[in-house]
Amino acid sequence: MITLVCPECRLENEPERIYCHDCGARLDRTALAKVAPKTEDAQETRQRLRKMLDPQRAKIRHLFFKMSKVILGALLTAAVIQMILPPDVPPPAKTGDFPPQINLDLENATLNHSTTPMQYTEAQVNAYLGSALKSKQAALNKYLQFERAIVNFDENLCRVTAQRSLFGFSVYTATSSKVTLQNGAIAATNLGGSIGRLPVHPMLMKYSDVLFGDLWGALERERKSVAKMDRIEFHPQQVVLVPKP
Ligand SMILES: [Zn+2]
Repeated sequence: MITLVCPECRLENEPERIYCHDCGARLDRTALAKVAPKTEDAQETRQRLRKMLDPQRAKIRHLFFKMSKVILGALLTAAVIQMILPPDVPPPAKTGDFPPQINLDLENATLNHSTTPMQYTEAQVNAYLGSALKSKQAALNKYLQFERAIVNFDENLCRVTAQRSLFGFSVYTATSSKVTLQNGAIAATNLGGSIGRLPVHPMLMKYSDVLFGDLWGALERERKSVAKMDRIEFHPQQVVLVPKP
């Protein structure tokens, strides 16, 4: 290891020092410049350069990036197509159908202390939602024009799909939840959702209030009526509401 000899006190200083460690005199660092840094041996240099300039390698790297871009683009396109594709939903109910007055039934059951469970099919709930939400259009999102809400019931599972239109295209957003009643409040555990046919992870559905906030708001009265029930049960294509005894 080379050292820097102090011009004043002759102390041998480490090469990193600028001033003498002992007397503080400025060291002559020009000596360092004369010592050549550790050189790469010729063999190594040749190999490194060959690797850098190898046309085959460069071609492979170029191809890799090009392919990655193509694959990424394809995945993105596939995701967008999945988002645009409409999910399996029933056609809109014919206008003129007289829907069951579900909210009235619930309110009456609470008023009259009835204990008879009320049972509705998916189609009945969808018909009810169709008419109930028509009158609340104004309260619903104006940018993503609300078209309709569709429910699907399965064992312990309630799926709500909102159909909206954006520049004339139909946009479907859906959310699946396990819904229970706990001490007069509706508790929903999200089990995931979807945009079109693209599944959305439950973790991301935390942010779904942006997509459904207006709908939940428009159904405030219905939610309050349901919360007054003792139990809510979901079965395939069917919901059962049991009033409090
Ligand atoms: Zn010195």
